[in-house]
Amino acid sequence: MNIEVSERLKALPPYLFRELDRLRDEVKASGVDIIDFGVGDPDLPTPRHIVEAIKKAVENPSTHRYPSYSGMNDFRDAVARWYERRFGVKLDPPTEVITLIGSKEGIAHIPLAFLNPGDVSLVPSPAYPVYHTGTILASGISYFMPLEKKNGFLPNLNAIPEDVAQKAKLMFLNYPNNPTSAVADREFFEKVVAFAKKYDVIVCHDAAYSELAFDGYKPMSFMEVDGAKEIGIEFHSLSKTYNMTGWRLGFAVGNAEVVRALGQVKSNVDSGAFNAVQIAGIAALEGNQDCVVEMCRIYQERRDILVAGLREVGLNPQIPKATFYVWCPVPDGMSSTEFSMRLLKEAGIVVTPGNGFGDPGEGYVRFALTVSKERTEEAIERMKKLIS
Ligand SMILES: *Cc1c(COP(=O)(O)O)cnc(C)c1O
Repeated sequence: MNIEVSERLKALPPYLFRELDRLRDEVKASGVDIIDFGVGDPDLPTPRHIVEAIKKAVENPSTHRYPSYSGMNDFRDAVARWYERRFGVKLDPPTEVITLIGSKEGIAHIPLAFLNPGDVSLVPSPAYPVYHTGTILASGISYFMPLEKKNGFLPNLNAIPEDVAQKAKLMFLNYPNNPTSAVADREFFEKVVAFAKKYDVIVCHDAAYSELAFDGYKPMSFMEVDGAKEIGIEFHSLSKTYNMTGWRLGFAVGNAEVVRALGQVKSNVDSGAFNAVQIAGIAALEGNQDCVVEMCRIYQERRDILVAGLREVGLNPQIPKATFYVWCPVPDGMSSTEFSMRLLKEAGIVVTPGNGFGDPGEGYVRFALTVSKERTEEAIERMKKLIS
């Protein structure tokens, strides 16, 4: 039998992190002690009170049955209360909040709700790969909006050609941003709302890093902006805020029709997030937030060590205000890939080449601050030897 995959699978780019993992494993197998700043997966454990909450929940047989498609009412109520406390945004839990099996799941599925074959998504580049791959899986086309330093790594909406804007159905945005660590202000979000209204574009804002910020900075929600709920949806995740990447719990909030359409896709492909995980999610959102403060303190300390060290070796990254990434320009005359390879082969340091997130990421590498302070210091020492 001749097994042939669909055109949409053929159209997918190779999954960036799989390639990286493979290369890292190769070097590791040759006996090198690897320091891995590659993948953005928190190294810190889930806070104790959240772990205790799932232990208790899992003993209750009522959690063992199929969850509701849109999520437990109690979890969606907790999300709405969290939004009101944190952002001053009011949400109607039954219609404006939906539970996700991690935010990646919702981001990947939303194009199926709105794109017809050949329809356009406006996708930032460099970016988290799922905006583009979700678009391709829905037989859509991505129009890439370059994120450039001269624009503060915000897309220049005026540079989107009129015919593309007319055809676009979705726009993906992500602030605080992975991989550039840039942040967005109200003025930018207001321009986005005006653009979306003018061209009938649904805005999908990915706010996975809203709680991971430094020096007292508090990122805002897209939903705080007037009119945002008329045109958009915001994705959130417990993964980064509470070190819960393995648990698979996220949510989306915003426009009721958009939430409903996403729910319709989901009810046909999955059967919801495990209730015990949602109960633990309530404990996370409603419990003491000192764990988040402490986590930010740890990342901030690592950030300061890494940025100072990179500057000592002649590199000049901006100091991130948020996210756990440092977006670092590579040495003159080297490509992102060359520099990453050199760090890996000669210093056992894994970073992500910026072009892996899209062509405009060329000239940068991304460091994830998911490495302990001591190992970060060790990495700096290795880089000093390599560069001197
Ligand atoms: C980590 C991350 C997510 C979160 O994914 P989950 O599926 O919720 O674990 C979403 N968006 C971006 C940009 C991320 O970096």
